Amino acid sequence: MYRLILVSLLLTILYYLLRHMFRGFKTPLQNGQGNPSSSTPDDEQDQMIQDPVCHIFVPRRIALIELIGGREYCFCSKECVKKFRDEHPI
Ligand SMILES: [Zn+2]
Repeated sequence: MYRLILVSLLLTILYYLLRHMFRGFKTPLQNGQGNPSSSTPDDEQDQMIQDPVCHIFVPRRIALIELIGGREYCFCSKECVKKFRDEHPI
């Protein structure tokens, strides 16, 4: 039981660290882009997108975004990307 608590605690810390890292990377990259629209990047990152293969919803922030046939698709894993590419040869 003690192990379980420890693991969940570590996962929580890892999650916050990753979240912090992504935010840190984003800010300098977004500067100088000159985006006049008022959409906030954070909202976009939190958007839930459906994986076309296994149909689960993935937050855009952690999804694997692939450009296939000129369209953007979001996947939960590399396995799903592979499956999708196999089923949709360009
Ligand atoms: Zn998937």
